[in-house]
Amino acid sequence: MAEHGSVFNAMLQEFEGAANILNLDKGLWKMLTHPKRQIIVSCPVQMDNGEIEVFTGYRVQYNVTLGPAKGGIRYHPGVTLDEVTALAAWMTWKCAVAQLPFGGGKGGVICDPTKMSRRELEALTRRYTAEIIDAIGPDKDVPAPDVNTNEQVMAWFSDTYSMHVGHTSTSVVTGKPIEMGGSLGRREATGRGVMIVARESAQHLGFSLKGATVAVQGFGNVGGIAASLLAEQGAIIVGVTDWKGGVHNPKGLDTKALLAHVAQHKTVAGFTGGDALDPDALFGLPVDILIPAALENQITEANAGQIKARLVVEGANGPTTPAANRLLHERGVFVVPDILANGGGVTVSYFEWVQDRHGYFWTEREVNERLEAKIVQAFDVVLQTARRYKVDMRTAAYIVAINRVATVTKMRGMYA
Ligand code: NAD
Repeated sequence: MAEHGSVFNAMLQEFEGAANILNLDKGLWKMLTHPKRQIIVSCPVQMDNGEIEVFTGYRVQYNVTLGPAKGGIRYHPGVTLDEVTALAAWMTWKCAVAQLPFGGGKGGVICDPTKMSRRELEALTRRYTAEIIDAIGPDKDVPAPDVNTNEQVMAWFSDTYSMHVGHTSTSVVTGKPIEMGGSLGRREATGRGVMIVARESAQHLGFSLKGATVAVQGFGNVGGIAASLLAEQGAIIVGVTDWKGGVHNPKGLDTKALLAHVAQHKTVAGFTGGDALDPDALFGLPVDILIPAALENQITEANAGQIKARLVVEGANGPTTPAANRLLHERGVFVVPDILANGGGVTVSYFEWVQDRHGYFWTEREVNERLEAKIVQAFDVVLQTARRYKVDMRTAAYIVAINRVATVTKMRGMYA
């Protein structure tokens, strides 16, 4: 079982629930549960001490039926091929739910960027890019940032690719610096999407964000921005935790001051605008909305029973194990799955790719309006599907995604 094991098995369990309801053809079932391509590369890097280290990197293109593979690159000591494959599969379903002309991909390099210098990170990024260069490109596979990679890493990636092909290619990666063809609104897009989904869900459940109480796990790009935008809508952020600790204030945390604290101290711990909170106590807080925005496998069979929130919005990828998901569903908790809830990031990545290919750039307002329209439409389609099949939102999102990919797979036919 996937409870503490394979992340890819967890994805397969989610897939199976929806594929069974759709009575998916057995051949399509096999095609959609196998990654199209898994690339493993060795990246030698001369470290600052003169020694050579060899880093293992992966790029998985899970499915490219709807368009080029799309998905981030993760730098982390815990990266595995299993995890990268699951993340690439989730990207496939996420792009299909958001109706983007992309397939799903993901990359990862086993390394600890906290122990590497800027020069070492640049050398690793350039070598990793060169090792996978034949498989990537604006029409083939378009990477982006993920955990521990950022705009600077994308700038090195884009430059290395451009040097190899002999011209400046802006649309080979997204999440770039604005000056290099990045999109306004990309940095905030995932958190903004989470806020929009929380707002739509609250409306569906019959309450307003104004005065709603919220707990957030993880206060990085996704959690920090989602919390700030929810606070702007009148929600009260009562608890926040991260890798080092947590803070609690039943009257509401000042998210602007908390962001400034995190920018300086790299953690929410020690923030004086609330009391210290044991991270294990976050899920048990009496709140309306819980937002896991940190890592995979956080809501498990062991702690799902503590959750008092009536709405869970998955900012992170894969934060809820399949067993925990069943427990929450039985208790009537409305869970908005990752492949719908955090799709704002890849949606604005798509807008960035479109702008780069046109060489014409939109205002932040245009980006945010188009994002709002896409997310609200995806939410409505998934909610209607949940009602039609009498299933939870996760199964409904998979039904929508599998249907879209399977339909095009059938239309295109078998090349052999
Ligand atoms: P980030 O590195 O900016 O922030 C991660 C946060 O999680 C940090 O506050 C960190 O302290 C915290 N954290 C780490 N370990 C923790 C632990 N054990 N307990 C509690 N908190 C912990 O990363 P991010 O970009 O915000 O990504 C967070 C999640 O959202 C990941 O699952 C990522 O794949 C997913 N996601 C990100 C985007 C995006 O555009 N950034 C898009 C879709 C999904």
